[in-house]
Amino acid sequence: MQSQIRKMEASKRIALVAHDNKKSELIEWAIYNKAALAKHRLFGTGTTGTMLEQALGQPVSKFLSGPLGGDQQVGASIAEGKIDVLIFFWDPMEAQPHDPDIKALLRLGVTWNIPIANNRATADFLLTSPLLYEDYETILPDYSQYIKRLQK
Ligand code: PGA
Repeated sequence: MQSQIRKMEASKRIALVAHDNKKSELIEWAIYNKAALAKHRLFGTGTTGTMLEQALGQPVSKFLSGPLGGDQQVGASIAEGKIDVLIFFWDPMEAQPHDPDIKALLRLGVTWNIPIANNRATADFLLTSPLLYEDYETILPDYSQYIKRLQK
């Protein structure tokens, strides 16, 4: 299969999402890493984004609250090439009403080959990667053949 390239700039567009039981962990992590996060543009689902903005004193572009469509908006933005990185602390111990949306968001993150951190350790590794601070070319499968599959 052929591949395509999608370019990310040095200043990344980072989406942050945390389920309710994980919000305090994400906020604590974000405060600890405030200087690193300040180099990037931040996005978040409604509640997570509001909490982050207050905690960091840095603007966060907010989508709707996750269960009200925010996860789907983040996923759509990934598909459109408007989000470079996803930090999503989902709760492994509690079922969520918007479980299909969560699955869809994670699927789109993989489809478009963006870096995804689903826990604090991975988020630490991601944030300390030099690639997060440089221009980067994401290699994607070439979906054009798939798009054309039924066209004559
Ligand atoms: P919230 O959404 O930040 O609006 O709480 C998070 C989620 O559950 O996806």
